Parts: sequence; structure tokens; C-alpha cells
Amino acid sequence: MTAELKERVAILEGMLSVVGACIFSKDLKGRYTYVNQAVLAVFDLPQEEVLGKDDSHFFDLEQSREVIENDQMVMRTGKTLRKEETNFVKAFNREVTYQIIKKPLYDENNNLIGVCGIANDITEQRHLQSKVEEQNKLLDIVLDNVAAHIYMKDDSREFIYVNAKVSELFGLPVEHIIGAKEQDILPPDMAAHFHESDTELFASGTKQTIEETVTDDNGNKRHYLSVKVPFEHHGSKSLIGFSTEVTELYELKEQFRKQANTDYLTNIYNRRYFIETAEREFKRADRSKEPFALMSLDIDHFKKINDKYGHPVGDLVLQTFAKSLTANLRDEDVLARIGGEEFAIILPNTLFKEAKRVAERIREYQSNNPVPTEKGGILARVSIGLVMKAHDDNNFETLFKRVDKALYQAKRQGRNRVVAHN
Ligand code: GH3
Ligand code: MG
Ligand code: MG
Repeated sequence: MTAELKERVAILEGMLSVVGACIFSKDLKGRYTYVNQAVLAVFDLPQEEVLGKDDSHFFDLEQSREVIENDQMVMRTGKTLRKEETNFVKAFNREVTYQIIKKPLYDENNNLIGVCGIANDITEQRHLQSKVEEQNKLLDIVLDNVAAHIYMKDDSREFIYVNAKVSELFGLPVEHIIGAKEQDILPPDMAAHFHESDTELFASGTKQTIEETVTDDNGNKRHYLSVKVPFEHHGSKSLIGFSTEVTELYELKEQFRKQANTDYLTNIYNRRYFIETAEREFKRADRSKEPFALMSLDIDHFKKINDKYGHPVGDLVLQTFAKSLTANLRDEDVLARIGGEEFAIILPNTLFKEAKRVAERIREYQSNNPVPTEKGGILARVSIGLVMKAHDDNNFETLFKRVDKALYQAKRQGRNRVVAHN
């Protein structure tokens, strides 16, 4: 060897000793003819104990068949082989996975003399990869089975992720939804609604909790509780949304609220709701300076009706009275049963003259139209007190007391009459 050649070999060897990959060559019998530092580190042996020996000394060949098979294939076919190879290293008693490149070696006369190769340890990488895959699988199971619609969208309104429940809701396979823009797969009003709340989310940059109502294909209203959280995805604004259907809960809540406000016998508002609403309406009238009329109605000698015809017939009279009142009022009027046979009505934005006309019409109707019952027609005459909100009334209570007085006067003056104070 010339001095120059020797120098070049020395440089090359120096370089090979510092690379992380294992570099080696073997003869036709599989005995190592060259190994770099990385190979020695794997076998945990000095060079003189490796060169000239075959793999049976370093790998458990029972569990490392691939190493021999791959070497033999390269020598048989004369082709370069690139693949993964898993071997069991005796020195550390562990399995190692390599990404290998193996090539046949020839002498200057083109005779096959062995195999050379490079092997990169990818054990850790494979391990992490399978761990990530496992975690992804687990996450998918959780996300697809949780009772919520879960989705991710980027700021161009494209879906990045949807779980099985979303696919079910949209009636589209997951792979159709991912990568699609919401306006391409959702009805226009739904897409517009989503866009609006997403825009708000991006503008605020903070988590939002929203109650959403969507009408389904059958025209039924469905209610959702949605939590949206903004986050960065590959450097762009994205959001993740969790939407839980709460229709049943919502309807139950509505039902309870209605029950709490409704009189069980007549199905009109009860006293509790009346007082609440009256106070609100009073304040509104106070601000807007609109006229505000309050009426109190009490059936005359109702006790006698009960005594003569029995309680159930009395109930029917109350129900019929409530119905005819409802039919005679406007939508904005508030009618309630505030006691046994006592009713009250708020007439917002109604002048005294008009309110008086309404009261008189009710009184007259009741005194001329007997309630049909199984025991014949029963006249349920009524006394009515009517008052208007005055400028110096500063709460509903004073008005309520005044109307009570007016009603009392109507009774005192002989019943079946209206006492109205402006
Ligand atoms: P007045 O003309 O002075 O108002 O006499 P009245 O008999 O109507 O008044 P009173 O307050 O003496 O009697 C009211 C009666 O209403 C007594 C009560 O038994 C009856 N009552 C209260 N609630 C109900 C109910 O839900 N159903 C029936 N059937 N009767 C009821
Ligand atoms: Mg009474
Ligand atoms: Mg009465």
C-alpha cells in the first residue's frame, strides 16, 4: 500500500469509528472482516474478539434468523437489500431493530467474497411509533364512544377531525367530513350558525360555552350544550368542539318551568308567575310611560255554587271562566288565577277607556251566559276592580292593593259590577 493510500484508509476508518450507524463486512462464511466502533459497542467486545467470528457469537440465532437469511439473500442474488431486521443481542440480552442496507462484496476479479452493510438502530423509534399507534387507538375508542359530538376545525372552516357521533349526526362517513368545508356538507343555515360562533371564538381567543338549538330533518328542535376551545394546530388557528345533546334535559327543564308557572286546574298562569311578571311589566311601563291597567276579578257567591252543585261542578265553572277570559284577551295580556275563585289580568299599553270596556264586556258576558254543566246551566257572575298605574306609583304592590280595594267596593255595591279608578 502506498503512503497516500494508507493515509486515506486511516481517514476513512477514523470517520467510520465516529458514525452512529453500525458498519461491517463479513466473509462468505459470515465471519466479520471489518466492524466499526458502533458494532463493538453493540456487542460490548473489543475488536479482536469480533473479527473472524460469525454472528452465532453475538446474536441469539434462534431469535435472530433474519440476520443470516438477509446475508445469504444478498450473496445469492447479488442485489442490495434494504429492510428492517430484528436481532437478539446476547451482550445486553435484548431485542434490537435495525434499518439495514446490505450489499454483496467482490474482489478485484469480481469474485463474491462476502457482504458489507450499514445498520441503524431504530428500536426506540419503532417503540415510540407503536406506543403512539396504541394511544391513538385508545383515544379513538374513547372519542367514538363518549356521548358527545367532538370535532376539530381550522380557521378556513375545514374539518380536521370528527368522531363517530359527528359522522352519525351529519349522515356522512368520517373520511368525507375530514378535509371538507362545513358549508359544503352542512345545510346553509347550520353552516352559517357554526361560522358565527366560531368567528366569535377566534375573536375572543378563550373557551366558550354555548347552548345551541338545531332543527333536525324531521323538524324537531334539538338542543346542544357546546364547549369550544381555541388552539394552535400546525401554526394556524384551530378549534376543538365538544357538543353534547341535552334535548331531553332541556325539555324536562322547560316542562318544570311551565309547571311551576301554571295553575293545575285552569291551565292559566298561577299567582307566583303573575306577581313575578307584574313586577317586570310594571317597571317596563314605568320606563316607557305607557299606560298600564290592572284588573282583579272574583266570582260572586261562588261558595253557593259549590254548596248547591258540588265541588267538581265548581271546578268546571272555574275552568270555563278561565277559558272564556283567555279567548277574550290579547296575546300580550297576562291572565292568572291568583286565588280560589279570584283572577287577575295585566293589560299592558292599554288606556283606561279600553280597559274599562274589556272589564264591562267580561262582566256582561258572565251575567248572560250560564256555564253548561251536567246539572244544567250555571250563571257565574263576576265583580271586577280596575285600576291604572299612576305616575307616582313606584311599585306594583301599591297598585295591587288599590285594585283589591276597587274589587271590594264592587262587592259592597252589590256585586256583578265593575269599579274602575283612573
Ligand atoms: P263573594 O261574592 O263575596 O266573593 O262570595 P264567595 O262565596 O264567592 O266568596 P268566598 O270567599 O266566601 O268563597 C270562595 C269559595 O271558593 C270558597 C271555596 O270553597 C271556593 N273555592 C276555592 N278554591 C276552589 C276550587 O279550586 N274549586 C272549587 N270548586 N271551589 C273553590
Ligand atoms: Mg274570593
Ligand atoms: Mg267570590
